[in-house]
Amino acid sequence: MSNAFYAFDAELERLTQHNLYRRRRQIDGPQQGVLNLDGRPVVNFCSNDYLGLANHPAVVQAFKQGCEHYGVGSGSAHLICGHSTAHHALEQELAAFTGRERALLFSTGYMANLGVVSALAGRGDCVLQDRLNHASLIDAAVLSRAKLARYRHGDSQDLSARLAQTGQRTLIVSDGVFSMDGDLAPLPEMAVLARRFQAGLMIDDAHGFGVLGQHGGGIVEHFGLNQDSVPILVGTLGKAFGTFGAFVAGSAALIEYLIQKARSYVYTTALPPAVAEATRTSLALLRREHWRRDKLQALIAQFQDGARHYGLPLMASPTPIQPIVVGDRDRAVTISQRLLAAGFWVSAIRPPTVPAATARLRITLSAAHQPRQVDALLTALAAAMT
Ligand SMILES: *Cc1c(COP(=O)(O)O)cnc(C)c1O
Repeated sequence: MSNAFYAFDAELERLTQHNLYRRRRQIDGPQQGVLNLDGRPVVNFCSNDYLGLANHPAVVQAFKQGCEHYGVGSGSAHLICGHSTAHHALEQELAAFTGRERALLFSTGYMANLGVVSALAGRGDCVLQDRLNHASLIDAAVLSRAKLARYRHGDSQDLSARLAQTGQRTLIVSDGVFSMDGDLAPLPEMAVLARRFQAGLMIDDAHGFGVLGQHGGGIVEHFGLNQDSVPILVGTLGKAFGTFGAFVAGSAALIEYLIQKARSYVYTTALPPAVAEATRTSLALLRREHWRRDKLQALIAQFQDGARHYGLPLMASPTPIQPIVVGDRDRAVTISQRLLAAGFWVSAIRPPTVPAATARLRITLSAAHQPRQVDALLTALAAAMT
């Protein structure tokens, strides 16, 4: 009995033929600098745990204590009976951390973006996005039913020209640090344009928090901006914070509006309170332990020096995301397989995650790495790319 609806095989076959088929690998043990993959240790150069907090003993301990106090499940959405003292305290600490009036927790960054964009823009509005924005931001604009327009990557002149044309109520949306390129949005110029054209400005700094800025306050702190110049700021907790979840920070009115209107906030179960407790501890470590950012910067400089020495093509990234673009997706996959055989886990990123013909190795550095591991990676990379 065949049913045409379930004919998935042809598309799966096409993906396989084009080397676009994706496989999951199982790791056994915590997320850290060296992972246990199929019983074999591999150095982990593909995680977003930039500060090495995902398995920090104090964060793990806070999680355990959170479970003892709150149990595991939150039981319901925040607006029913799922909003705990732990969630509330974390929101207040995130507001203080970002220098904003209030912050609001979401269950994931994907959901924060869906909720914020669809609450703030709708039919008749325009959502103007950087071409290389994260998929969740693009999906959010589609969900909002506003017109989705895109400007050239990091190009504030193109943004300005488009703002001058729209004639619609407009929300400008951008990654802070671009997830597959590691470069920064031109935020000071964007803030000026948003003000000049009376547009909203929303920044998703998933990869900047913890990494950029003197206290890890991300791209906004890096550029010395604030709530007035960048009114809508999204952060995720699953990357440098080492836990799980996301938040939006901004004015009290913005947050109150989102509590009423953001559907991915209203209609979903709150994070486990123990995750909020663990995050309170990781936030304290992230703010206080400057050495993690310093060490990361030293590793980034070491990687860039080494890459230049071997003639590897670097991108203009000052962050722990250090992609090596190889162009051809088959070649990207082959190099990543060679690296894995040599004991280094580096992911090959292929279209549609990145534009056609820009397949790359996305190398991510972490304060959990040691300089000798970065040196060994460079040697292996140079060998794998010849
Ligand atoms: C990872 C990421 C997200 C999604 O966050 P999750 O908490 O993993 O859902 C959103 N935006 C950007 C730029 C990201 O890199």
